[in-house]
Amino acid sequence: MDLDLTKGHRTFRDKVRHFSEEEVLPVAREIDEKDLFPDDVITKAGKMGLLGIITPKEYGGMGKDLISYVLAIEEISKASPSVALTISVNNSLICSPLVHFGSEEQKTEYLPKLASGEWLGSFALTEPGAGTDAGSLSTTANRENDSYIINGSKMFITNMGKSSMILVFAKTSPEKGTRGISAFLVRAPDNALVTEAVLEGMGMRGSQQMSFQMKNLRVPIQNMLGKEGEGFKIGLWSLNMGRLGIAAQALGIAQAALEDALEYASKREQFGRPLSDFQAIQFRLADMAIEIEAAKSMIIRAAWRMEKGSASPSDPAMAKLLASHVAIKVSGDALTILGGRGYLKGSRVEKLYRDAKITEIYEGTSDVQRMIIARQLLSR
Ligand SMILES: Cc1cc2nc3c(=O)[nH]c(=O)nc-3n(C[C@H](O)[C@H](O)[C@H](O)COP(=O)(O)OP(=O)(O)OC[C@H]3O[C@@H](n4cnc5c(N)ncnc54)[C@H](O)[C@@H]3O)c2cc1C
Repeated sequence: MDLDLTKGHRTFRDKVRHFSEEEVLPVAREIDEKDLFPDDVITKAGKMGLLGIITPKEYGGMGKDLISYVLAIEEISKASPSVALTISVNNSLICSPLVHFGSEEQKTEYLPKLASGEWLGSFALTEPGAGTDAGSLSTTANRENDSYIINGSKMFITNMGKSSMILVFAKTSPEKGTRGISAFLVRAPDNALVTEAVLEGMGMRGSQQMSFQMKNLRVPIQNMLGKEGEGFKIGLWSLNMGRLGIAAQALGIAQAALEDALEYASKREQFGRPLSDFQAIQFRLADMAIEIEAAKSMIIRAAWRMEKGSASPSDPAMAKLLASHVAIKVSGDALTILGGRGYLKGSRVEKLYRDAKITEIYEGTSDVQRMIIARQLLSR
């Protein structure tokens, strides 16, 4: 096993780093302040191929491996975690399930648009009454001739309002519980799909979450993803991919916070010396670096195992759990090192501190990750 990144990985990471520093970082503050969806940045990311990093080349993607994917999300997140979220959802939660479960017709028709950024995608599992317990969702899809008629509400859906394709989970056989859930590729906009106001969060501003209702939404049967009753399996599979992306996003937050803490500690003088001369500051910086390195190792290992097909759901769950914890801890430590300046609006660390919290909530809270890990431990 070679623990070094390959030359190809490093070249790709450097390319994404350059894009992030040139195109994303300069507008990151404005995106946050105005809660502005960055259409231009996402269009440019699409042109670079970043919306289809792990989509095979034959379907218009970059055909990269999962290690390249996490390196890219980490770099984008260092510049703007909310841009990383938009890109991660499109890659992990739309393109990946389509690649894995889609029919040849679905892949040929939809993937080139989704991987190029011509379309953006959303993943609609959560409902007002079904969050952690996603299997209890109450949206229904009833067969009527060559269509399904979908009725129900979804909440917190990222990219919604900008999406041309939504992966919607609905019950086709409510009496069968989670085995009665199916997945549908829904085209948007549609008159039967009613969006509500953008939900405003404390962080990840600009990534655009919305609630929406489906009122007798007609979806052709050929737009079912996978087979009837396979929806919950598809959802859980997709979330494993998603958790890897969120782990990388959290890592990017922690890296950016450490960079700002190092810079401030080196330049700021108190008691006639730079802060970095004081052992208390040095030890805090050392702990931050260790925690980041541990999260990075776990993410790369999870990506490597998932790529090889030898991963269990515990791998991305552990990576997300640790990386989100590290993002919150390290951004808080960075804020401590920056003192009052870190607390002020306009400081990047203040924004990172707000952005970090959600990484331990979405795509399964940290306690959900613990449930996944414990289930695997106890099933041995
Ligand atoms: C910014 C943002 C973006 C999102 N994007 C999407 C998206 O694109 N698509 C999508 O489908 N969803 C999305 N979500 C929804 C997200 O995945 C849910 O918020 C998350 O799964 C938690 O569900 P909940 O908020 O309903 O919390 P709840 O289910 O109400 O849970 C509240 C608390 O109770 C705990 N809890 C619940 N059950 C148990 C239990 N059995 N044992 C112990 N503790 C428990 C949870 O861990 C949590 O701490 C997004 C949310 C946000 C905020």
